[in-house]
Amino acid sequence: MAVVFGAASAAFLPRLAHRLAVGFADPPRAGCADCLRPFGAGLPSWVRVGAACSCSDAYGRPVIAGGMVAGVLAATLGPVPELPAYLLAAVPGLLLAMIDLRCLRLPDPLVGALAVTAAGPLAVLRPGQIGVSLVAAVAVLIAYTILFLLGGLGLGDVKLAAVLALILGFAGAPALIVGLLAPHLIGGSAALFRLVSGRRGPFAFGPALLLGALAGLALQQS
Ligand SMILES: [Zn+2]
Repeated sequence: MAVVFGAASAAFLPRLAHRLAVGFADPPRAGCADCLRPFGAGLPSWVRVGAACSCSDAYGRPVIAGGMVAGVLAATLGPVPELPAYLLAAVPGLLLAMIDLRCLRLPDPLVGALAVTAAGPLAVLRPGQIGVSLVAAVAVLIAYTILFLLGGLGLGDVKLAAVLALILGFAGAPALIVGLLAPHLIGGSAALFRLVSGRRGPFAFGPALLLGALAGLALQQS
């Protein structure tokens, strides 16, 4: 059921990612970037199952990713009360990864949506962990702000890392440690791979942060 939910919800994301993957302070894309067809107005212009535009049929990867993320969470955690919150939070999480890969941005409203969908229910289910979570979020915010000032990361990465620390704090210390260290292994490997393959310039760290958090959540003791 989790895999079906993850895959089905991810099928709605290509159009959203296409519209939201724009530069800072730019409005959402009003039409297809490839065939220039306008998307129209209102809710139907945002909600589309499958590819971002009828000129494309590329939606397999998000659907597979959504199904896999949900499957990993359900398989490792089992039917715990926290699972629906994680599955729901995976939707803005995947959308953030898709947008960051396209345009190196992590829009604030989506990071906020991730925080609310996960941390809200977790605060109700595990009130004893609220203190740990807040301390973790503030500590990560400070550490990543230093990394940002040193020039290694974007401001979006700083905010996303703090939100993920908040979420991981509810899952306990092992999940927090894995979730905070794994992104640097993943991001470091990606940077090395890019270096070897001769590509330069900034790369998206958001997907590494999100994958690391997934690893942390998957390894928590429930
Ligand atoms: Zn198109």
